[in-house]
Amino acid sequence: MNDMILDVRDIVVGFPVLRGFLKKMVGTVHAVDGVSFTLARGRTLGLVGESGCGKTTVGNAIIRLVDTDAGQIVFHARDGERFAVETLTDRNLRRFRSRVQMVFQDPYNSLNPRWTIGATLEAGLKIHSELDADRRRERIATLLHDVGLGPDFIERYPHELSGGQRQRVGIARALSVDPELIICDESVSALDVSVQAQIIHLLKELQAKYQLAYIFISHDLAVVEYLSDEIAVMYLGRIVEHGDAETIIRHPAHPYTRQLLEAVPVAKVQAKRERALIRGEVPSPIDPPSGCRFHPRCPHAMAVCAIETPPLVEGTDGAGNRRITACHFPLPIDGAEFRSDTIAIQSPNENEPSS
Ligand code: SF4
Repeated sequence: MNDMILDVRDIVVGFPVLRGFLKKMVGTVHAVDGVSFTLARGRTLGLVGESGCGKTTVGNAIIRLVDTDAGQIVFHARDGERFAVETLTDRNLRRFRSRVQMVFQDPYNSLNPRWTIGATLEAGLKIHSELDADRRRERIATLLHDVGLGPDFIERYPHELSGGQRQRVGIARALSVDPELIICDESVSALDVSVQAQIIHLLKELQAKYQLAYIFISHDLAVVEYLSDEIAVMYLGRIVEHGDAETIIRHPAHPYTRQLLEAVPVAKVQAKRERALIRGEVPSPIDPPSGCRFHPRCPHAMAVCAIETPPLVEGTDGAGNRRITACHFPLPIDGAEFRSDTIAIQSPNENEPSS
């Protein structure tokens, strides 16, 4: 069995910029600009960054809610079937979506207010399974039990549920088609902290029970840290740092990752850090800064940073941890420099918009 469930290679997703009464196209926003990563079965990748960094677009591209302009997304199903996402036919897309599901931020908006919870959960089963009515009812009871809701929820409507209960229904709906990968897009962001913790704990339990892989998209590193095996940090459409979660949280090498960490309280971080907020706003992706896109906000920027795009390279930090980072001057760890293996994962300027 192939251990890799997802292979994302150099994907680019652009949206047209329309202006004026006639909606004339005047440019393209590269919301995602050369993103690559792989994900192993049963593992969690945390995809983090500020609002507008492209992380949700990556999730939408994986499940084919948006089309890619370049690159490749390949999903390897448990049974050996291989899905090249950008070339799926309508029929294959339906089968693919029974293996890859999404849990959204706002479960209320994604649930039909006129349907009972039972009807909502049954809808997916009717499309994606061959269970008869009795079996569907049994399956719905199991799903509700799996997400910590009683059988009486079958007859309830979304407006009768709390935010946490609605999100449990959203998770049950995703589970109903027996997926292998679930993309959680800011799935706990709208919940109170105590409810967030319960939902994250539930996701962990379900992962162990069903060998699920997750892509957990969030702006909140504190949330991502608990759930993720690996973390990829995105800034203006690109991954700027990627490594195992512990390494990224304890020893960030990229100044942007360091600033994201400083902006949130993270319980496990023991390294001494200056507390500061990230300077300024995320620049417009329509006209991103030259060179390193983070340079207008980076406290470590040098002249070269505004001119040359740092390549995404793999290397070893001072503590001996492997990581991938895109910075001309990665932060030293315990006084030692990041040593690049000079293997460019993505060449500088590869996807630079032509001016
Ligand atoms: Fe900062 Fe320069 Fe590194 Fe960009 S390349 S993160 S501007 S030090």
